[in-house]
Amino acid sequence: HPVVDLSGVSKSYGDLAALRSADLVIHHGELLAVVGPSGSGKSTLLNIMGTLDRPSEGKVRIGGHDIDELRDRDLSALRAATIGFVFQQFHLAPGIPALDSVADGLLYSGRPRAERRELAERALRRVGLGLRLYHEPHQLSGGEKQRVAIARAVLGDPPLLLADEPTGALDSRSGAVVMELLHELQEAGTTVVVITHDRDIAALLPREVRLKDGRIEHDSAVGAAAGEL
Ligand code: ADP
Ligand code: ADP
Repeated sequence: HPVVDLSGVSKSYGDLAALRSADLVIHHGELLAVVGPSGSGKSTLLNIMGTLDRPSEGKVRIGGHDIDELRDRDLSALRAATIGFVFQQFHLAPGIPALDSVADGLLYSGRPRAERRELAERALRRVGLGLRLYHEPHQLSGGEKQRVAIARAVLGDPPLLLADEPTGALDSRSGAVVMELLHELQEAGTTVVVITHDRDIAALLPREVRLKDGRIEHDSAVGAAAGEL
């Protein structure tokens, strides 16, 4: 089954249709961009894919589970096991060394402290921060902070990583490093969705889903499939 399977998904806020009848299938190991201008529905779509929000209409399946059939508590468990989140702002607590920030992602996992720290160290090495384990946020560059946040998001090896404007707060060089890291995660088997308003970033990714006024106006995967017929 696909990692994400949305069928006829709409989301309204009062009279405003933020997302209109979206169909979107994302398979294991894909790397794609959801691109569109501000207000086009990217965050709404991310919140639904991330099971943070339920749709007003339509079917949402995540990892083969129909979220209609899950109570909030079971949905939280599915989210914790399946989805890592990365945001534009890095959300790192001031004064906390990178190793602890990452290890704290496993605080409620039932694993002993030594194991949490060992896994965190491995995740930080994986994002190229093996020499920054004890640095605090104010000692790290923006790109390094984002890599700490990515290490925390992938610590439990979630099959799906949702990244909301991950390069939005970075200069272009640090942004390129972060995009390269997302490519590496994909090569290692993670499904990665990048939300961006930046068409140049979207164009670097293998698949592009374009949103306009709450509608998917173009999906390069669907376009390619139709072209092959
Ligand atoms: P984007 O992420 O592309 O900027 P959003 O998904 O945040 O777009 O927003 C899509 C539309 O839905 C916008 O018009 C926005 O103002 C509206 N919207 C988003 N979230 C809410 C909300 N919680 N309540 C009311 N309107 C919302
Ligand atoms: P972005 O485009 O980066 O998502 P936004 O400013 O559109 O930033 O949205 C930030 C948050 O505010 C989102 O969680 C979104 O759901 C919410 N939001 C956006 N527009 C509205 C709105 N008109 N009313 C209430 N909440 C909104």
